[in-house]
Amino acid sequence: MTAAPKDLIAYFSMEIALASEIPTYSGGLGVLAGDTLRSAADMGLPMVGVTLLYRKGYFRQVLDAHGHQTEKDVVWAPELHLERLHNEVVIHIQGRDLRIGVWRYRVAGVDGHHIPVYLLDTDLEGNSADDRRISDHLYGFEERYRLTQEAVLGIGGRQMLIALGLQPTRYHMNEGHSALLAIDLLKDIWEHTKDPTLAACLAQVRAACVFTTHTPIPAGHDRFPRALAEEVFGAEAVARVAEIPRLLTTELNMSILGLELSGFVNGVSMRHAEVSRGMFPGHEIHAVTNGVHSATWTAPPMQAVLDRHVPAWRRHGHALRAAQKIPTAEIVAAHRAAKQSLIDEINTLGPHHFEADRFTIGFARRVTGYKRIMLLLRDVRRLREIGGRWGSLQIVFSGKAHPKDHDGKRLIEAVFRQQEALLPYVRLVFVPSYDMRVAGKIVAGVDLWLNTPMPPLEASGTSGMKAAHNGVPNFSVRDGWWCEGYVQGHTGWVIDAAHSGDHGADEQDADRLYRALDEEILPLYFSNQARWGEMMRDCIAFAASYFNTERMLEEYATRAYGLSAAAIARR
Ligand SMILES: *Cc1c(COP(=O)(O)O)cnc(C)c1O
Repeated sequence: MTAAPKDLIAYFSMEIALASEIPTYSGGLGVLAGDTLRSAADMGLPMVGVTLLYRKGYFRQVLDAHGHQTEKDVVWAPELHLERLHNEVVIHIQGRDLRIGVWRYRVAGVDGHHIPVYLLDTDLEGNSADDRRISDHLYGFEERYRLTQEAVLGIGGRQMLIALGLQPTRYHMNEGHSALLAIDLLKDIWEHTKDPTLAACLAQVRAACVFTTHTPIPAGHDRFPRALAEEVFGAEAVARVAEIPRLLTTELNMSILGLELSGFVNGVSMRHAEVSRGMFPGHEIHAVTNGVHSATWTAPPMQAVLDRHVPAWRRHGHALRAAQKIPTAEIVAAHRAAKQSLIDEINTLGPHHFEADRFTIGFARRVTGYKRIMLLLRDVRRLREIGGRWGSLQIVFSGKAHPKDHDGKRLIEAVFRQQEALLPYVRLVFVPSYDMRVAGKIVAGVDLWLNTPMPPLEASGTSGMKAAHNGVPNFSVRDGWWCEGYVQGHTGWVIDAAHSGDHGADEQDADRLYRALDEEILPLYFSNQARWGEMMRDCIAFAASYFNTERMLEEYATRAYGLSAAAIARR
């Protein structure tokens, strides 16, 4: 009898936010991946991460005085943060061999357990100049560049794990970018199995694969023309894949690969799973709602309060329920310190004259159409009046537009254009180069976290969960995680927004936003500080205790990974 293989989960993601200064991420997807691995390290789970190195990162955002965005390569030295390993693999794409090297980062958990992350690198001697650049840029522009990157991630990444002597029992594809790993696995099983019927091989692949889809937006699902796939992988290999029912049509769709080849498929909130079931009829799609890594996203002053009152919180997220017993004065004081730190930083960026005793609204995320960054600024006169009535407001914006998203870039300029017109009652700042560090400052230092996506397009959203960890109430459209996180009178306020495509949606939603701000939120803040303090505490007790990656990973471990009880109970 052969021994059962030891559990090992291989977590594949096109981007992983390991640390603010390691530019291997662009936004939400990468931060989620990093938070997932940070919680896996805390929990001592048998997991490894796989991603690409990105010698030139995503990009550094430069904004001129008018908010015009230009992009600069990020300059960083991998050798200062990562360990170079000697292992190498070769994959055959575009009619030639491509050598792939690897670096390792170790994510440290609260008890010293480490999760290794393997970062693939094609900048090796022997590769052509073009091939050496495959691992340079996160989300390069060209289709061919992206497909070769996905080949490196899925096929190269799986082969690299084997070269490292690792034998994953489960593969978790964080979004479709890594779905070629399932094809590579199928090929392996096909060549080595004793039962070479296609159905048996597919069953084995599905038993090993988990796929998480992350967006209801069709353009967010990676698709490549079949002709391009043939150029990259060879017509023969593509034809073999096309023989398998439903896998490949005139295009190679990575989400379809993920759906067809995974035994467990999920969306990232209950609402998103429901929307995804509509998009992919005939597939069973579960819901595992996202979270954030609590210790990473709780600002130091609030960490100190939690350490004093609920010391178990770093190991057990649900212990945050007991935040209920913390005196609100301590929570208010910790938030005040985080707010001062944010305001000091804003004032060093320019003569913004932000002040700690003014009500401050935060809005920071990728700048793209459906997130509706301009909703709050839709009627500048009305907003300025509200500001005047309540002794002035401050608004902190931040976020990058994808270099090719010209509409997104114009939205940043539109925000800048309102700056003057809002004065003197509303002060507005746009903090450049949104990254983990900037995000950490803003989510902890504002008084209200605003989110206004066009439903149902926000799959989950995680920045509001970060705010909740810092006692900051959310004011959000009912979409994504907020459908679950909103507890009336306790965790924040809801904007019952119109549905995507509804006529006049923006105008109607802006009206509701202004009314709730003027008639509910600001009156409570200014007339009932005690009640506001209780709400801050409830954000931690009700929302942070649930919307964390430890709870999320426990769900994956038991429902998707099939981890043995022993592996889960290691703690
Ligand atoms: C948390 C985070 C995001 C994701 O924010 P959403 O609310 O999910 O849009 C994006 N970028 C950075 C840098 C973050 O820290």
